[in-house]
Amino acid sequence: MVDEDNFMSVDEYMRTHTPDVFAVGDCAQKRDFVTRRRVPTMLASTACAEARIAAMNLFNLHVVKTFIGTIAIYSTAIGDIGFGTAGVTEMRAKEEGISTLTGIFEGVDKHPGNLPGAHTQIVKLISAKHSGVIIGGEVIGGPEAGELTNVIGLAIQNRMTVNSFLTAQIGTHPCLTASPAAYPLIKAAEKIAIQMLRS
Ligand SMILES: Cc1cc2nc3c(=O)[nH]c(=O)nc-3n(C[C@H](O)[C@H](O)[C@H](O)COP(=O)(O)OP(=O)(O)OC[C@H]3O[C@@H](n4cnc5c(N)ncnc54)[C@H](O)[C@@H]3O)c2cc1C
Repeated sequence: MVDEDNFMSVDEYMRTHTPDVFAVGDCAQKRDFVTRRRVPTMLASTACAEARIAAMNLFNLHVVKTFIGTIAIYSTAIGDIGFGTAGVTEMRAKEEGISTLTGIFEGVDKHPGNLPGAHTQIVKLISAKHSGVIIGGEVIGGPEAGELTNVIGLAIQNRMTVNSFLTAQIGTHPCLTASPAAYPLIKAAEKIAIQMLRS
């Protein structure tokens, strides 16, 4: 059975309406993790996550192994600048009637920032206004931007809050990461926390 957008209808175990038939990947219906709306997000990374869920449930439903919605996580590079986005944008949240707070931090992806090959690194986090649950984020930086975006994706999937970022333990190295005192994910969360305190 296909839905009105021609995606194969599936449940959280990736089962179609036909007994013993599963659907994953671009052909399978998607629902946004945050908004719960149907979305046409077609990504190999999503397809693989869905395939793992389907495989885990082929012969026996492992009740906790369900696909809980698509977190659109994209990254790309133009020259040596990396870009990434995960979850909902501020604009999408507004369209859905979700009140948000945002924190943007601009730092450097090595420390000290004058090391050769250091890139400016900009991280934006978007949280639901009252709960502080992280629902989206964006990164512009060097080659690490893709993996940093994936960390934001994991935070969204695990419904991490601004407070959990503030207390997060991170590993840093001068040649590989921002400084522990100016780690962009934590500093962006700090900017939101300040607004939460004031509101
Ligand atoms: C230009 C481009 C760039 C992309 N970049 C990214 C990226 O950076 N990151 C990312 O996560 N995703 C990216 N994607 C999306 C990603 O490629 C798809 O989401 C992913 O390949 C979907 O996997 P799938 O297995 O559902 O379908 P497919 O990979 O399309 O596989 C379907 C297979 O079924 C075969 N097939 C079709 N009909 C039949 C038939 N009747 N009988 C037998 N076989 C059939 C096809 O030949 C194909 O091999 C990109 C897509 C495009 C087009």
